[in-house]
Amino acid sequence: MKELFHKEAESNLQSKERDCLKCGERFPSEWAGDRVCGRCKGSIAWRTG
Ligand SMILES: [Zn+2]
Repeated sequence: MKELFHKEAESNLQSKERDCLKCGERFPSEWAGDRVCGRCKGSIAWRTG
C-alpha cells in the first residue's frame, strides 16, 4: 500500500505544463499557483508588487 502511494506522490511531483494566462504559451509550472510563464512573471512583477 505504501508503495502505491509513493508512486502516485512521485508522479504528482513532476512539473506540470500549463498555459500561461498572459501569453498563452505552454510552460512548466513549478507549483499549483504558478499560472504565468517566467517571462510574463517578470513583466507583471511591477504591477503585483
Ligand atoms: Zn507568458
